[in-house]
Amino acid sequence: MRKKTVRDIDAKGKRVMVRCDFNVPLDKQGRITDETRIEFSLPTIRYLMQQGAKVILTSHLGRPKGAVAESMRLDPVARSLSGYLKISVPKLNDCIGPEVEAFIGDMKPGDVVLLENTRFHAGEEKNDPDFSRALAGLADVFVMDGFGSAHRKHSSAYGVAEYIPGVAGLLMAEEIEKLGSLFEHIEHPMTMILGGAKIDTKIGVIEKFVDKTDTFIIGGGLANTLLFAAGHEVGESLVEKDKADVARSLMKSIEVQGKRVLLPDDIIVSDTVDEHSETANIPLRFIHPKLKILDIGWKTTEKASEVIRQSRTIVWNGPMGVYEYGPFARGTRMIAEETARSPAKTILGGGDTVDALKNFDISFDQYTHVSTGGGAMLEFLEFGSLPGVDILQDAD
Ligand code: ADP
Ligand code: MG
Repeated sequence: MRKKTVRDIDAKGKRVMVRCDFNVPLDKQGRITDETRIEFSLPTIRYLMQQGAKVILTSHLGRPKGAVAESMRLDPVARSLSGYLKISVPKLNDCIGPEVEAFIGDMKPGDVVLLENTRFHAGEEKNDPDFSRALAGLADVFVMDGFGSAHRKHSSAYGVAEYIPGVAGLLMAEEIEKLGSLFEHIEHPMTMILGGAKIDTKIGVIEKFVDKTDTFIIGGGLANTLLFAAGHEVGESLVEKDKADVARSLMKSIEVQGKRVLLPDDIIVSDTVDEHSETANIPLRFIHPKLKILDIGWKTTEKASEVIRQSRTIVWNGPMGVYEYGPFARGTRMIAEETARSPAKTILGGGDTVDALKNFDISFDQYTHVSTGGGAMLEFLEFGSLPGVDILQDAD
């Protein structure tokens, strides 16, 4: 189903609320360490400025849990946007309320304003109708451009469009089009590479892809949980012990369907996690209870590369290790390079996965599609749509 996009509306002079994904990584000093998400949001913002819209930007950042958190204010994002857009983008101290209304009332066509972190309000994640209505009251049209948030029914990404017309932004439209067509006909063998840290969300995903996938390559924190569930010692690794039952039933269903799972059987371990960590590459069974598993080992990487070379469709979300630090980046880098070389259809996504590619200086052009969403990408591939897409107006 095609959705209306920002190109299908007359935005001139209108108050247009654009939901972006400005959930950028910040360092301890509050500086943005990767601006990819901001860069991805620029085409829609620039387009609306040129059309003479009053551009009202919204986003969440981090997990402030419904209260103001000084470290999660959007000021660094406003500064970054000002640089890219070559205008001063003001950031307000709230995202609803009389001061916000007054500011927007004074906006001129072509102006841009950034509202404060939507998750400072408890209503946001509950998709609370009052909060959604308050946001919707600030604008004439809603533009959804935060693909990475489109799988959640939150007020600023979903609820607003229940009260004012919603259309897709340029980034959003491209994601919908590319991901929609890529997965219509899956060429086999299909390999799904999963890693990263958000274990509970990813375990569910595997379950749903078991019938479509031929081989799962699993690394990162996710692998630790599966290994732990299978009875292996994992030392002090990141692991969700309370997910062991889910993990076991998952492994069972993969087995029953005769699919292959590649879990690390050699690992990179250390007792510290920083740039200077001393590491060892050891067989899984040699792990010491005081050590952490921080990357997949060389042999496992080689086996994974072999699977990648034989695949015709590859879907990847989540780094294989703590790629942020040199000593634990190798597994992720090797998988990224092997996938880049592959002539298969390659679909990658996730904030950290994309961040890793940037760190490794691998061009996005080498992949069929690089998605800004991790969870959102997987859910879209699974269901063919997302709540934040469904709620938008259909194209004529
Ligand atoms: P994405 O953003 O691509 O969807 P996630 O957010 O799920 O990925 O996971 C990324 C995080 O997982 C990174 O910060 C990385 O350091 C972490 N990670 C990967 N492997 C491990 C591991 N073995 N132990 C701890 N953290 C890990
Ligand atoms: Mg992430």
